[in-house]
Amino acid sequence: MRLSRYFLPVLKETPKEAEIISHQLMLRAGMIKQQAAGSYTWLPLGFKVLNKVVRIIEEEQNRSGAIQLLMPTVQSADLWKESGRYDAYGKEMLRIEDRHERQMLFGPTNEEMITDVFRTYVRSYKDLPLNLYHIQWKFRDEVRPRFGTMRSREFLMKDAYSFDLDEAGARAAFYRMFVAYLRTFSRMGLTGIPMRADTGPIGGDLSYEFHVLADTGESQVYLHKDLAGKTIPPIDTDYRGDLKPIFDDWTSLFAATDEMTDEAGFKAAVPEDKQLSARGIEVGHIFCFGSKYSEPMKATVTGPDGKDVLVQMGSYGIGPTRLVPAIIEAFHDEAGIVWPVSVAPFEAVVINLKVGDAESDAASMKLYGELQAAGIDALYDDRDQGAGGKFATADLIGIPYQLIIGPRGLKEGQVEIKHRKSGERETLPIGDAVKKLVSLIVPQRLDTI
Ligand code: ATP
Ligand code: MG
Repeated sequence: MRLSRYFLPVLKETPKEAEIISHQLMLRAGMIKQQAAGSYTWLPLGFKVLNKVVRIIEEEQNRSGAIQLLMPTVQSADLWKESGRYDAYGKEMLRIEDRHERQMLFGPTNEEMITDVFRTYVRSYKDLPLNLYHIQWKFRDEVRPRFGTMRSREFLMKDAYSFDLDEAGARAAFYRMFVAYLRTFSRMGLTGIPMRADTGPIGGDLSYEFHVLADTGESQVYLHKDLAGKTIPPIDTDYRGDLKPIFDDWTSLFAATDEMTDEAGFKAAVPEDKQLSARGIEVGHIFCFGSKYSEPMKATVTGPDGKDVLVQMGSYGIGPTRLVPAIIEAFHDEAGIVWPVSVAPFEAVVINLKVGDAESDAASMKLYGELQAAGIDALYDDRDQGAGGKFATADLIGIPYQLIIGPRGLKEGQVEIKHRKSGERETLPIGDAVKKLVSLIVPQRLDTI
């Protein structure tokens, strides 16, 4: 992408309405624009990051055996009346009436709709286990939308729903998602720590929220320090095998939100030198809820003995539009965002220090072309502008590597690479630059481990 032809409305000033750093940086870097309270347009740069986050989620959902579909945003109230949630959901639900005066709603979640899909087509236990997911916009009329896309009213959610014959099957489905979630967040550079969470009126002990630690997090969390450095299940983890040992390993160390524990309970459970009391951002929530929806909505399958049984369900959410600011909360400095390569809007930016100088233009175009040919997602800053402004933009929007090209270096046959994260700059021969960038970038995509 050539920056002179791109749409990147960066802001010089920090907008006053933004309280937390990720919200400030998303506005300043031209990633989002507020449209109404809790509702945002994803501008091109932000949308590019969002898509990378979504892609990682999809890859890990698919790897675990979940199957993607797409359900509508606007739902019929009838299904929600069947489950009993139409009245129970309250003011967070945006209710709509169509021209025939039918009651509709903008979906805050999809348990009812997916249960209806299931009961329409699935008859036999032989078709189980089944896990269906989609990535779709949700609307919740939050009392306090805030922090930009961290807590918005319209937001994107990946929601998966598992269907099993019995409780043992449902637990196995839960463990698969548990492992997929550990991998998903880790691929974005984050440690998503599973915490025992409230199951609400549903009950049961299988409810875990995944939290990313950050000072600006809305939840108070208590955990054993060693959870932060634990090994993530590798890419070749066998999802058809027994995943309980991984679940047991992670959950053997204490971690809970303040809905589930208090300071005293925490202190009694964790040795003093291992206690970590912190703030957390909830980026995912998984739980098993048995027959809560299958019972009222009569979703049954014929079991091996020929008798009909209620299907056992679970649901598993991740918030991609919350993950983007969560990643920024974890990775930024005074100059701006410091994207991990795996979700960076561009992996490298070619900075032409002297647009209009024939040699600089030619060298920049050539290296930009070679980066693209090598499969690097590259941006070319070809704007006719001073070097200071170009560096500031590149730092602000957080591109992991800057390839700096100018007449002075070119005379010696040299260019520079700046590492955004460390600030380190290295000078190298023109001919080595692309190979060097490829060797730096490719392993950090984290897509093969
Ligand atoms: P919270 O307690 O933060 O309101 P929740 O418990 O209502 O979240 P779930 O219903 O479990 O959330 O939704 C699954 C995921 O969707 C959450 O883990 C979060 O990542 C995301 N999410 C929920 N509400 C919002 C929101 N208002 N804005 C952005 N993302 C959200
Ligand atoms: Mg909520």
